[in-house]
Amino acid sequence: MARSKPNILVTGTPGVGKTTFCEALAGSTQLQHLEVSKMVRERRLYKEWDDELDCSIFDEEMVYDALEPLLEAGGCLIDFHSSAFLDDGLLDLVVVLRADTSTLYDRLERRHYPESKVKQNVEAEIFQTCLDEAREAFEETELAIWELPHDTEEHMQEALERVQEFAQSYTPG
Ligand code: ADP
Ligand code: MN
Ligand code: MN
Repeated sequence: MARSKPNILVTGTPGVGKTTFCEALAGSTQLQHLEVSKMVRERRLYKEWDDELDCSIFDEEMVYDALEPLLEAGGCLIDFHSSAFLDDGLLDLVVVLRADTSTLYDRLERRHYPESKVKQNVEAEIFQTCLDEAREAFEETELAIWELPHDTEEHMQEALERVQEFAQSYTPG
């Protein structure tokens, strides 16, 4: 069944600004912000724990099952670092936010992440892990993937305008 409002996945390395961006976008559109990492934590959508990084390893099936009914209704902003476990049929646009190494480093330090976790995330950004994950997951599909810089306030405003425009001009079908 066609959605009356689009589903937009906002992905990228931790610290690129997904949550900041989604909050601003949810405030200026009728889209609902789904902060998936928070859902994973609160609803315990994991079965494994990463001892080295001291964080949960989300369970793809559990997260998919939690998101599916929401995405079927449409109008969701999915805020998550991972994308490959989602079905392209549930999505209308994928936005991959990017940040420079020094920007990301500073943001993660300010978050008081342990050094190993800062390093791992900065490396993931350098190797464009999230972008490649989305490209590989959806390469055989028609789904648009927008890679947008997110280092500055100006970048965020530009990205907001582009995505607002997309949401406004979305027609079911
Ligand atoms: P994520 O959800 O991807 O982990 P956050 O939205 O929590 O990232 O942002 C991480 C930090 O970077 C926050 O302190 C936020 O204020 C800052 N930030 C995010 N986007 C921008 C931007 N475009 N310009 C400047 N600072 C930003
Ligand atoms: Mn976040
Ligand atoms: Mn599919």
